[in-house]
Amino acid sequence: MSNLIQIKKNLEKYNKIPKKSLGQNFLINPEITKKIAGLCLGDGVIEIGPGLGALTFELCKIYKKVVAVEIDKTFEPLLNEPLSDCNNIKIIFGDILKIDLRDLIQKEFAGFERINICANLPYYITTPVILKLIKSCVKYNAITVMIQKEAADKFCSKAGEKNYNATSAIINYYGEAKKIFSVAKSNFYPQPNVLSTVVKITPHEVPIANPKSEDLMYKIINFAFEHRRKTLVNALITGLNINMTDKNKIADIVKKIAGEKSENIRGEELDIKAFSDISDLIYHEIKYKINIK
Ligand code: SAM
Repeated sequence: MSNLIQIKKNLEKYNKIPKKSLGQNFLINPEITKKIAGLCLGDGVIEIGPGLGALTFELCKIYKKVVAVEIDKTFEPLLNEPLSDCNNIKIIFGDILKIDLRDLIQKEFAGFERINICANLPYYITTPVILKLIKSCVKYNAITVMIQKEAADKFCSKAGEKNYNATSAIINYYGEAKKIFSVAKSNFYPQPNVLSTVVKITPHEVPIANPKSEDLMYKIINFAFEHRRKTLVNALITGLNINMTDKNKIADIVKKIAGEKSENIRGEELDIKAFSDISDLIYHEIKYKINIK
């Protein structure tokens, strides 16, 4: 029986209709699930959104332990069926955006050395999930995710490139993002409206930036891209709510890092090292006036 027929039969058996609002587009091509599962090495893996268990099943063959976080509790019987022979899986029903990842890793992966993230992500929460993973301060072995093609283009962009945005800069801070392969709509049920790309983010061995305050650096990156039409200096003055006396300090700080062209420079031209350096200077020179951790 083909995978698609089997999936439709299972959904029917449990009276389930895939929910668009939860990004429920299931992989029906085992070649793709195998390929994604095999992309990262390590002993433990967290899967986000196991759905009907197609990718989970492949992950269970490779990793010592798989922890899968699924928001839709009604999938419980559908998930248990394909995974009934796997004794290395733990399923947690909950919202990945609300789960304390450090706590989960301490409880479920004590003694494990290399923890991976692997997911066919629900596209409606791609960016918040990636930012949460990065800001959780866990050094994963790798984050391998299938996402919408347009999001992949952004995640893998570098300073000065067309798709570079705040998330690209924050991903650059954490690691190297690479597009691995594209996946056509025909590999899903139901078929999504968009093309998909598998992206692997590998953390930097040696950090490329060490900001004094990550919180301030993230704020600065967000302000720089939020006010795209403003110059960086003006975007920071507005975003950080800088008072009259400190306005010139911001201009001087940006000049120190960006040089002569600093007057007109915009956020999209700065790499993560420059953002971190600007953030450190602001931290030292005007920290006491800005609400930062
Ligand atoms: N892994 C399966 C596959 O590849 O066929 C399903 C992937 S489907 C694109 C996304 C899955 O994420 C769905 O099962 C959905 O219910 C689940 N999901 C959606 N939002 C979630 C959230 N906030 N936390 C955890 N899981 C979520």
